[in-house]
Amino acid sequence: MTIDFHSHLDLYPDAAATAAKLDASVGFVLSVTTTPKAWNGTQALERHHPAIHTALGLHPQLAQQRQHEVDLFEELVSNARFIGEVGLDGTDADETGRRAQTDVLSRILTACARDGGKVVSLHSRRATSKVLDLWEGNPGAGTPVLHWFSGSRAELQRAVNLGCWFSVGPAMLRGAKGRQVVAAIPRDRILTETDGPFAQSSQRGLMPAQTEEAVAVLAQVWRTDAMGVDQLLETNLASLLQQNDITL
Ligand code: MN
Repeated sequence: MTIDFHSHLDLYPDAAATAAKLDASVGFVLSVTTTPKAWNGTQALERHHPAIHTALGLHPQLAQQRQHEVDLFEELVSNARFIGEVGLDGTDADETGRRAQTDVLSRILTACARDGGKVVSLHSRRATSKVLDLWEGNPGAGTPVLHWFSGSRAELQRAVNLGCWFSVGPAMLRGAKGRQVVAAIPRDRILTETDGPFAQSSQRGLMPAQTEEAVAVLAQVWRTDAMGVDQLLETNLASLLQQNDITL
């Protein structure tokens, strides 16, 4: 079965049709949101396919502009077992923006710890150490799944030691660096993702569950075949859900 642990399903031009077109072989799509206001509408997409599960999020690049929506996040958090997309982004925020991102993520992780049992899809571009610092400062926030990890080897080791999981996609795996990162991640902490429609393949936004390219790279790195990768990913997902007492 296909696993897409980070898809922006609600951001496709016709989200309902896209959801309805998912193949029967798709086993799990984590439908992440970028603002708490999107929660209700995005959750409604679940009725189009049994593999779709919605995550409550507030994207770091919207943190400054949507800071007031943390209140709504706190109101909704008890409805969500999956959280995302949340995190920090170090690419273009100025000092005020960075402070807003940190405040927002801090409050989000506090809310997660208070409610308990969350699986959290985390964005950490150019901010891996800071994300890990905040994570360490909020014990009980749940199980972290670093999406599109792009940190250093030392940061990777620290993340592994902190219990992080990793969702990896074709865009991340295309370069040599991405492959080296993937080879260094424990196999039992990996899931696939697309990050579509933002992440692309052949200049087109990836469709939800379009993970074949990532699976092919994993097969090379792990010296197995696509079926072997699928089996391992399925086992991994089952263990992630079981460790967090999540029944779908
Ligand atoms: Mn994303």
